[in-house]
Amino acid sequence: IFEVSVGDDTGRIFAVWFNQPYLKNYFKAGSRVLLHGKVECYKDRIQLSNPEFEVFEEGVEVADADKIVPTYSLPEKFSPRVYRKLVKSVLDKYIPHVEEVLPFDVRSRHNLLNIAKSLRQIHFPENEEARFKAYERLSFEEFFIYQIPLILRKLKRRQKQGIAFRIDEPILDGFCKGLPFELTLSQKLVLEEIKKDMASSRPMQRLLQGDVGSGKTVVATLAALIAASNGTQTAFMVPTEILAAQHFEKLSEFFKELGPKPQAPSPKVKIGLLTSSMDEKKKQKVRQQVKKGEIDIIIGTHALIQEGVNFKNLGFIIIDEQHKFGVSQRALLSQKAVSPDILIMTATPIPRTLCMTLYGDLDISIIRELPKGRKKIVTSLYGLAQRKQAYDFVRGKVKERQQAYIVYPLIEESPSLMLACAKKMHKEFQQKIFKDFKVGLIHGHVTRPEQEVVMRDFRDGKIDILVATTVLEVGIDVPNATVMVIEHADRFGLSQLHQMRGRVGRGEHESFCLPICDPETEDAKARLKALLEHADGFKIAEEDLKIRGPGEFFGERQSGLVELKIANPLTQMHLLKSSREEVVRLIQADPKLEARQNQELRRQLYQRFPEFEKFMMVG
Ligand code: ADP
Ligand code: MG
Repeated sequence: IFEVSVGDDTGRIFAVWFNQPYLKNYFKAGSRVLLHGKVECYKDRIQLSNPEFEVFEEGVEVADADKIVPTYSLPEKFSPRVYRKLVKSVLDKYIPHVEEVLPFDVRSRHNLLNIAKSLRQIHFPENEEARFKAYERLSFEEFFIYQIPLILRKLKRRQKQGIAFRIDEPILDGFCKGLPFELTLSQKLVLEEIKKDMASSRPMQRLLQGDVGSGKTVVATLAALIAASNGTQTAFMVPTEILAAQHFEKLSEFFKELGPKPQAPSPKVKIGLLTSSMDEKKKQKVRQQVKKGEIDIIIGTHALIQEGVNFKNLGFIIIDEQHKFGVSQRALLSQKAVSPDILIMTATPIPRTLCMTLYGDLDISIIRELPKGRKKIVTSLYGLAQRKQAYDFVRGKVKERQQAYIVYPLIEESPSLMLACAKKMHKEFQQKIFKDFKVGLIHGHVTRPEQEVVMRDFRDGKIDILVATTVLEVGIDVPNATVMVIEHADRFGLSQLHQMRGRVGRGEHESFCLPICDPETEDAKARLKALLEHADGFKIAEEDLKIRGPGEFFGERQSGLVELKIANPLTQMHLLKSSREEVVRLIQADPKLEARQNQELRRQLYQRFPEFEKFMMVG
């Protein structure tokens, strides 16, 4: 134990370090030190245990000691003191050369510090207030710059000439009458918003949000019907092959019911399916049909955006489960048409302000209610030791002729992880635990024709229990499935858990979600707590965001949010909003950023966004 006695105007205290005898080389009697750590009571004296320290060289200015001192996250063995010195000298040398990006009038309207002062105060704040002001200013700048391309894109779209679809109400009514259910009020309202957009000559770019099971597919199908009855093709892009096949069947069913009706002559709508794993001959044929305009609605995976797919007359694009796609994929598909209308759907509801940041260029519709008669999904956590009880529960439900999913984080065993996996458990279920039932298996390595057979058998009730991986996470819709068992639930993200839970509770029976795990980390505990407490997807998304932060929540692929270094859209909504207003104002006043005071801004935008040139072509 090495200890020193230190004092200041207020009194004396002991600082204590364990197992670091070499420390005695650093401390000399009479030197000035800066210590930082937790004050503890030990026996009858107060002490600092293992504090961080800085010893000031003799004659060195110690004025910093009573200021707020920056803490950087540094690699081990990197001296915080040396690093601070370095930062300080960099600031002294280069601050005079840093150009201001925020135009003067923006700064003065929002009472923001200038860049030089902000940089200095964020590193070496004079006081808490100055630190906060620097933080606000730098965050504002980030939001401001981030939103300029989004808003330019939105304006640019407004000026484009798209397709003004004719809305034929009798055809839509005829379709709705053929459905086995009535649309919810929320679905109807959203449909009205979509109709308005489609009827207008501006190209639609609308984000449709709605919790799992809220019935987005049928709304999208109605929009596709509008396109089809105008003689225009629709591309319906989904993230997985299973989902593509399911949508293909579902839409075919919807349109079968449309049938010929004497009072409303319905167009014959032809639906096609195109996925990468289809055999080449079949793909070739479908591509031909798409090219000739024989297919009205083509459903597919990313195969749709690959080369070789050409449309006769693409006018409408639907992207389902958009959070599974990158932004660039969205852009690629829309290049296949001149100015198509685009409907983007997501079941991961995004809090409003964040939505503005991430999708600032889109209009937004929300389905706020689930179809009537949906029963609550009962969620109960089982410990690993209670697995057997969970299986017993499954058995009980299957005996009542309902169906169950059992999901695993892995397909195959991995030597480094001690986790149950889908393949092995499938065997075990088949041979032992559920040998009197039919157990199916589905995962990403199963070939597409096999996947289709399994999914069809499950839908037709020929399979009682479906063992799966997260391929089930999105879209799958089998109303008779009422139990969702999620093994090693602590390995999944919160939104993912909610999505999987949303696979049940789609029919008339009460449904159940049984996550199995013994959560160990704080985050895992928080995720499961939120899953048990909240049924509403919006609430879940908020919790998930809080746990993970926006960058990780949206994933690198699609968000520029990971680029936000200092701004936090969750806690700084006021800045997000005011910076957005400023962007709109700026672009209205100087759409090409030609004014002298906007030159630095323009330069930096070109530097940061390589595609910025395109936006600047706005007239
Ligand atoms: P999601 O929004 O998660 O994509 P789906 O479109 O898969 O949801 O719809 C979930 C289920 O609810 C489907 O079986 C669908 O046919 C059904 N459904 C959709 N709208 C209604 C409604 N208004 N009333 C009853 N069932 C509906
Ligand atoms: Mg869906």
